[in-house]
Amino acid sequence: MAQPRVQSEYPAVAPGVRDFIGGRTRKMLIDGKWVEAASGKTLTSYDPATEEPLAEVPAGEKEDIDRAVKAARKAFETGPWRRMTASERGRAIWKLADLVERHGEEFAQLETLDNGKPLAVSRAADVPLVVDHFRYYAGWATKVEGETIPVSIPGQQMLTYTLREPVGVVGQIIPWNFPLLMAAWKLGVALACGNTVVLKPAEQTPLSALRLGELLDEAGIPPGVVNIVTGYGETAGAALAEHPDVDKIAFTGSTEVGKIIMRAASGNLKRVSLELGGKSPNIIFADADLDSAAIGAANAIFFNHGQCCCAGSRLYIEAKAYDTVMPKLVEYSEKIKLGPGMDLATEMGPLVSSEQYQRVTGFLDSGKKGGGKAASGGGRPKSLAKGYFVEPTVFTDVKADAKILREEIFGPVVCTIPFKNVDEVAKAGNDTTYGLAAAVWTKDIAKANRLAQTLKAGTVWINCYNVFDAAAPFGGYKQSGFGREMGKAALELYTQIKTVWTNLGPH
Ligand code: ADP
Repeated sequence: MAQPRVQSEYPAVAPGVRDFIGGRTRKMLIDGKWVEAASGKTLTSYDPATEEPLAEVPAGEKEDIDRAVKAARKAFETGPWRRMTASERGRAIWKLADLVERHGEEFAQLETLDNGKPLAVSRAADVPLVVDHFRYYAGWATKVEGETIPVSIPGQQMLTYTLREPVGVVGQIIPWNFPLLMAAWKLGVALACGNTVVLKPAEQTPLSALRLGELLDEAGIPPGVVNIVTGYGETAGAALAEHPDVDKIAFTGSTEVGKIIMRAASGNLKRVSLELGGKSPNIIFADADLDSAAIGAANAIFFNHGQCCCAGSRLYIEAKAYDTVMPKLVEYSEKIKLGPGMDLATEMGPLVSSEQYQRVTGFLDSGKKGGGKAASGGGRPKSLAKGYFVEPTVFTDVKADAKILREEIFGPVVCTIPFKNVDEVAKAGNDTTYGLAAAVWTKDIAKANRLAQTLKAGTVWINCYNVFDAAAPFGGYKQSGFGREMGKAALELYTQIKTVWTNLGPH
């Protein structure tokens, strides 16, 4: 989020994008066919920068989920997918990465139109991360291995080994903050391990997943292996979570819905993995490089408009550096250029939806009523009449029990709190029901690593923030969920172990 180098400028609309905008009605993917919802109902996807409709997509419900699960089951049990070699599966995932890369501009524009994020970000972050992610898991397809086990049975020789087998039919429910990237996080590993999938994109942002669905056939992924059912959470999502023939449900979204999913999953004891909310502490010590720390703190919260589950929304600054860091942070925040994501000069776009706008501005009101002071931002930018825009906001004077300090806002709002020493900040940092991420800024690397061990979070960044790589596991402690996505760790979620014993006769 440096100062914009370009004047206000819009790109030419990429050719494939036209089919997904202008109020067109799209279909969803079940068993390799593009279909409407059984009910014929549709839902509207909006452009959050203009508040205008973009496209209609099917509003899938239970009957559609049933159809999709049936297709995924057939593809898992009897389809060509299980007969393909691991190498062939890997190559199909790699090809999918190539195709996303080839259509990169199209995906970047769809993501920006549907979600609101700046095109510069979709181009530089979302799309390349998706491509890398698929390539990373393409490599794992040939490395999903069991073990031989040295058992000790008196008088008997045994050959005992484990097979690491796919879990089966997997339901995947994803959010709207990184629509295509979340689809890739879910699909890459599931396919590498040989599962079949029913994917439900968020109702706010279904377009890039549907476009991805159009590339599956060319990538060599057989019909029914990936089914994409668009629809609302309470209908399509709920039907998937409780479906008796789904073997595993993977969910990324709010902690509240995570709990609902877990309950729904109990009917057939399907496996569950949850990547949920956060209220991540970002800790700046006085001995840090304060310029980088202040910029890092701004990016920690304002990247993707604060719509990141790992956003650094609680900023702890060592008291003796507070008056140095704050002006830098405020100055940086005030310079961020808000505008429609499609404008190449834009550094921060609108929030994703009207609902999210209401939610975040509600938190701003509650913060101010509770005695908090907005050192920058604090409301809607006056220059933008339409769209769900909220200013980057830095709060000071926040009380320890304030809602804005304790609850996940999922918007560009940070609370700043001074602290005196390591023990105090470790305690404050951990004083939350969440545990997704944390960060420490200091030149004292031993102090940073000791604190990293104390912080109860699934990721700790030291002198950096929001760094991701397909090889590095990501997931939550406490009510931020369980199960790790990315890296080798994610294979655990999408495979199960079978132990095979062979009697080789007496010793
Ligand atoms: P947000 O509140 O930020 O929109 P959610 O956790 O509600 O985040 O949504 C994340 C995903 O979960 C979306 O795909 C949404 O449709 C889905 N979802 C919402 N409610 C339910 C539910 N009751 N059961 C299953 N999925 C749901």
